[in-house]
Amino acid sequence: MRLTSAGAAGTVTGSCHLIETGGRRLLVDCGMFQGFGLTALNREPFPFDVAGIDAVLVTHGHLDHVGRLPLLVRRGYRGPIYATRATREIAQIILLDASKLQMEDHERRLRRAREGREGENEVTEPLYLPGDVSNTMPLFRDVDFERPLELGGVNVTWRPAGHILGSAFLELASADGRLVASGDLGNREGDVHRDPVLPSPCDAVLVETTYGDRSHRTLAATLAEFEAVVARAAAECGVVLIPTFALERAQNVLYHLKLAMEAGRIPRLPVIVDSPMAARMTRLYEESANDFTPEIQALLARGEDPFEPPGLSYSVTAEDSRRINALEECAIVLAGSGMMTGGRILHHLKHHLSNEATSVIVVGYQATGTLGRRLVDGAKRVKIHGREIEVMARIHTINGFSAHADQDDLLAWLEPTGGAPVYMVHGEPPVMGVFARVLAARGREAVAVERGRAYELG
Ligand code: ZN
Repeated sequence: MRLTSAGAAGTVTGSCHLIETGGRRLLVDCGMFQGFGLTALNREPFPFDVAGIDAVLVTHGHLDHVGRLPLLVRRGYRGPIYATRATREIAQIILLDASKLQMEDHERRLRRAREGREGENEVTEPLYLPGDVSNTMPLFRDVDFERPLELGGVNVTWRPAGHILGSAFLELASADGRLVASGDLGNREGDVHRDPVLPSPCDAVLVETTYGDRSHRTLAATLAEFEAVVARAAAECGVVLIPTFALERAQNVLYHLKLAMEAGRIPRLPVIVDSPMAARMTRLYEESANDFTPEIQALLARGEDPFEPPGLSYSVTAEDSRRINALEECAIVLAGSGMMTGGRILHHLKHHLSNEATSVIVVGYQATGTLGRRLVDGAKRVKIHGREIEVMARIHTINGFSAHADQDDLLAWLEPTGGAPVYMVHGEPPVMGVFARVLAARGREAVAVERGRAYELG
């Protein structure tokens, strides 16, 4: 078995791993590099012959795991892309959105270059267009959890990873040996998705290490703080803005708002989800009972919607969204993007940040260089759409809603893989260093995978 990584090797984005086993060349994920200083990597050639790949195996629908699929197709890939049904549906929404954002960004830069406000070399072509996404989607083939897929010499099984809807880790078995590839693993404390199942014994394991160096805050502490902040904002009758990703975090927050409102721990405020993408993602969540904890499955079986707190409405059109700007009453507004780098949340921040009755509740990771990070770090003035805004609102950061495994979760998951060598991916180098030492103390060999380098596994 041989591994060559084309992404998420020393970074947490761009997941893309070529596995050669049983005479087959299989690509596990083909994600986009995201974040400061990394996006240029998306334009580099893949470190393998694209047309020679037999199949793509997708673990889940996050952009950093599917975002370069249309590029792969653009560069000549015509084979099948295997994924669970939910992953395919999520990928379709995410990829179309990504292609439109790239087109808009390209047009904006062109305009600025024409006006002399940006250098010509800042104007890069979009990585791919909506037409490339249309060429990619027909290559998808649905797979079921726990039902091995026979790929001529290699059996592949998708097993529940508990990270987001449809998420899986993969078990590959061929005459060369057995490999487990983790994809992204869920947080066992989360109470929306069921826990990841444990992998089978194997000869080598490829594991994500996003939070390999730390333990998450407990969910109970996270929720207590979240509810206290919402209750206080309600008492002051201000607008509560929750910047959030459309997938997973939005549904997680809606579920906890519902529980807290129904139990009377927070007042029943109107809740507005200002995101057409979140509306589509929530619909997918409502259709997929099997992926969830027994509590959520029971609600769905009773015909109750776990992701619908009392007073919920979706605002889909731009006009609905503008109406929210004029909100005077107390309401909770969820909108993207999660790191406040674009999207409708910017309009709401522009209108409400300078009001001291406003609360902004940050429930997700904020990368360096983003508006979200500046607000979390206590900026008193910020610039939004070219306008200076004074920050009078209260900014609250609630850690602990993570969809990722922490160090304890990773160690527990790795347990059944016994003495198999661990190949670490999807992590920052210092984090992988910490995790490697923890594994070494348990007598396990760990390798930090480097991009473009070939490894003989096992
Ligand atoms: Zn993910």
